[in-house]
Amino acid sequence: MDTSTATAAVLEAVDALRDTMLDELIDVLRVPSVSGTDAENDAQHHMSGVLDRGGMEVDHWPIDLPTLTAHPDFPGMEVDRREAWGLVGRLPGSAPEDGATLMLNGHIDVVPTGDSDAWVDAPFDGVVRDGRLFGRGACDMKAGLVAAHWAVQAIRASDTALRGNLLVASVQGEEDGGLGTFATLQRGWTADACIIPEPTNLDIIPANSGALTFRLRVRGRATHAARRADGVSAIDAFIPILAALRRLEVRRHETVDPLAARWSLAHPLSVGTITAGDWASSVPDLLVAEGRLGVAIGEPIEHARAEFELAIAEACDGDAWLRSHPVEVEWWGGQFASGRIPVDSDLVERVHAAHGIASDRRSPDVYGAPYGSDLRLLTGLGGIPTLQYGPGDAVDAHSPAESVALDDIAVTARTLALMALDVCCLV
Ligand SMILES: [Zn+2]
Repeated sequence: MDTSTATAAVLEAVDALRDTMLDELIDVLRVPSVSGTDAENDAQHHMSGVLDRGGMEVDHWPIDLPTLTAHPDFPGMEVDRREAWGLVGRLPGSAPEDGATLMLNGHIDVVPTGDSDAWVDAPFDGVVRDGRLFGRGACDMKAGLVAAHWAVQAIRASDTALRGNLLVASVQGEEDGGLGTFATLQRGWTADACIIPEPTNLDIIPANSGALTFRLRVRGRATHAARRADGVSAIDAFIPILAALRRLEVRRHETVDPLAARWSLAHPLSVGTITAGDWASSVPDLLVAEGRLGVAIGEPIEHARAEFELAIAEACDGDAWLRSHPVEVEWWGGQFASGRIPVDSDLVERVHAAHGIASDRRSPDVYGAPYGSDLRLLTGLGGIPTLQYGPGDAVDAHSPAESVALDDIAVTARTLALMALDVCCLV
């Protein structure tokens, strides 16, 4: 089959599969696979069945958590898991030694639903309205994951034989660090190129800022509130620290990588939780604050941590109480390095071209995302040129309005199928 015949056949097959694949997506969305819950494992078992019935060779293995979490490169985990599963489906190429391997990587875990009153439909009902699918995980990123499988099914249905292997990696634990992709790489799975169909609004994202989760412990001296002047409030002591972090955030944005120029804050520093005190009329002797420090594209993690720790140390030095009771900094949970596709990779141009054939939409913008994702594990540890391209807008992710346009899922499936033809090479 020549390239133009194969292209036409594959695109036709994608379109013919639309109803089947959207049903598959709704089924996957209905498994409430919140990170760290049993349903996260259930969703992997569900997907394993889907890939198996879809004619893929399935590697579905229990992840050895004690070994993996002790690994020096382990990317972190913020929820308790006693069980986790890896899952890779492989559509074997006819001549893998001649053809390149393309991995499509998507996470199956979703973030919690938050305030249920804020949802119009129940979060895991998977309601379709006005050409959009609503629900937790709709755009982040079960639509992308199913679009990947959709592309595989189109390749199969159109009888186009690939030389190289086509992989679908379904991973858990992405939202809290990257356990699943780390486990997939440790298992030995690799590829010559990888696309993560995260919600990019069909733009191309070849780089991510990173994010480091931190915890601060600020000490005070407890006393009765009626004798406040004899104690030291940990809350008051935190105020100069917060101000120092704001100044640090400004300093860390004085120069920004051109790929991140569109963001008002390319790698924000944000405090997410504060816990202090245990009694209304006591002066609190401990404040614990947790947050995330953004890492600039190309910035080593160690550099970001050192700047942060120095800013805290300087703020402590300038304060009479904190000088003798310095704030403790702990790095815990998700430790997302920044990541970027290698400069010599032409994957961005190739996805651009595939999108142009797959769709008559505007051509994709190319920019770096202000959040961390599995991209940095795949490009960094895995050495696999990786970018993100997928349906839905990250603005809708993690919100009670999470939704995705069905047409955008189809465009993604069309583009991914063409990328399989491109990377894995026709026989
Ligand atoms: Zn995501």
